[in-house]
Amino acid sequence: MDIIDLRSDTVSWPTPEMREAMANAPVGDDVYDEDPTINQLQQDAADMLGKEAGLFVTSGTQGNIVAALTHCGRGDEMIVGREAHMFRYEQGASSGLGGIQPNILDVQPDGTLKLDAIKRTIRPDDQHFPRTKLICLENTQGTIGGIPITAEYTAQVGEIARANNLKLHIDGARIFNAATALNTPVKDLVAPADSVSFCLSKGLCAPVGSILVGSKAFIHEAHRTRKMLGGGMRQAGILAAAGLIALHKMTKRLQEDHDNACLLAEGIAKIPHINVDVSRVRTNMFFFDLAENAPMTIAELRARLKDEYKILMGGYAGMPNRVRLVTHYWITPEKVDQTLTALRNILAT
Ligand SMILES: *Cc1c(COP(=O)(O)O)cnc(C)c1O
Repeated sequence: MDIIDLRSDTVSWPTPEMREAMANAPVGDDVYDEDPTINQLQQDAADMLGKEAGLFVTSGTQGNIVAALTHCGRGDEMIVGREAHMFRYEQGASSGLGGIQPNILDVQPDGTLKLDAIKRTIRPDDQHFPRTKLICLENTQGTIGGIPITAEYTAQVGEIARANNLKLHIDGARIFNAATALNTPVKDLVAPADSVSFCLSKGLCAPVGSILVGSKAFIHEAHRTRKMLGGGMRQAGILAAAGLIALHKMTKRLQEDHDNACLLAEGIAKIPHINVDVSRVRTNMFFFDLAENAPMTIAELRARLKDEYKILMGGYAGMPNRVRLVTHYWITPEKVDQTLTALRNILAT
């Protein structure tokens, strides 16, 4: 990458090792369950997350939709954060495709939903009400800045779910970033969950794919739902080969991305006209705002970074003055330095 692309970790390219593994992957027809590379990826992922079975899905969005449609029927309700990907960024698929009504709660600054609010939101058995079936958590909580939520909190939500005969789904698109930041085994973070989805394609660098894990019975049903959504794939072991490297190798190096995010945020905090809260940098992403007295607009800053320095930075929906920065495999400490130099050149002179 000769550009410095900080818009998201989704822009990360597959590593050279992944490309080689993809070229050499043993494959078969996965709709017949005959792709050995996919079967291995699914089992390894399930083992790592402490669940019985796994399912390779095309995207994190598909993983979440399959989970919601498998746990809930039409007219059922799921409790989900207002700032959650499942509520905000999936085109309302759980209701559009599954007839599931979301009941939304505010996400707290620490990424959690208030426990008493969850309890209050669960419907009593009454013919007027939909049936609550599912609680969804997101870890890390992306839209508020990649904030990890703890095993203790997740266990408390799990207890509420069990006491009320509900299922718990974790949208763990970046669950390995959470495990790294909290220094907690990923198994422990997701132990209370009935299902977990995570992305192989973000900080883990695979070109395509996510995994959904859960019990054997859940994955059996989820497999049917994936097929209904057109997600049955054939020789996709080509993709799973990269996924195996993502799972076994790339999950071990995420601290580097977190360290680089800290380095970048601490450097940015010293540059005039920028407001950044370094204390909220917990994983591989953070936001900064341009101060009101800044000599240019965000649009101008973004354009100069791109045109003069080949540096790309993301925006934040609904907050035109805000920039989002995400570190990943291809953002080395040298690229962090180059980014800081560029920002200083533009803003401090
Ligand atoms: C990226 C993301 C998804 C969706 O993943 P895609 O592969 O882009 O469909 C779901 N949830 C969260 C929290 C995400 O960050």
